[in-house]
Amino acid sequence: MSGKKLIVGNWKMNLTVQGASLYVHKLEKKIKTHRDVEVVLAPGMLALQSLGLQVNRRQFKLAAQNLYWKDEGAYTGEVSAYQLNGLVEYAIIGHSERRHIFHEHDKDTRGKVQAAIRHDITPILCVGETAHEKAAHETHAVLHDQIVGGLANITADEVNGMVIAYEPVWAIGTGNNATPVDVEKAAQTIRDQIAHLYGAKVSKSVRVLYGGSVSSHNAASYLTTPGIDGLLVGGASLNAEEFSVMVELAHTFNETKNLARKAA
Ligand code: PEP
Repeated sequence: MSGKKLIVGNWKMNLTVQGASLYVHKLEKKIKTHRDVEVVLAPGMLALQSLGLQVNRRQFKLAAQNLYWKDEGAYTGEVSAYQLNGLVEYAIIGHSERRHIFHEHDKDTRGKVQAAIRHDITPILCVGETAHEKAAHETHAVLHDQIVGGLANITADEVNGMVIAYEPVWAIGTGNNATPVDVEKAAQTIRDQIAHLYGAKVSKSVRVLYGGSVSSHNAASYLTTPGIDGLLVGGASLNAEEFSVMVELAHTFNETKNLARKAA
């Protein structure tokens, strides 16, 4: 856990290159740069290069929404971590839309996590259960399997500082957000699993995010949930007002916490 909050906006397959640029202009005006909040934008692949030239990296970092694990070759339609190196700081890997619409398995996410690390890109590994698995009380087992499967063959040094997003599949794009109590439990399960695999120090260094129908109305409850370092925001990240409120909330909570710590 780092003191800094991480707020990631996943734009999914929305906005043209020009639309993305106009939207970033809007965000630039609305979002203040705070040392204690890292704001990451994950636009479509096509917009990454132009936004890379447009954004001030102190204000916004960039993320890819996906990548391929081979560096180059005959893989029509894919973009590799090797090609993304230098363009993005982060990559979202194993998003539930990749797992469920494009049938990616842990074997795929593992290759992608490894490729990202190999090319100096911090992976944001997404894990989370389906509604069916939740009803069957399998959340713990699903998180365990996705972490073990997604991180196999990766060293403690490589896992150090990476990001894991708890994104229950049933909460994504549904307006049906998880309770902070469930999110706290999931974050604990994730950290316990990392501690089991890599030790307590690495477990503390991992940043855990919550994602799933986060909005400016419910963001505060996750930003104050123990074990949660920030948010992965889908739909609401395409609304400049909503997104900027979440960034300000993250800053305000951090500031309040620091003041309370100093006063104690
Ligand atoms: C996401 O795409 O990762 C996500 C959490 O989407 P939404 O916020 O729209 O539920």
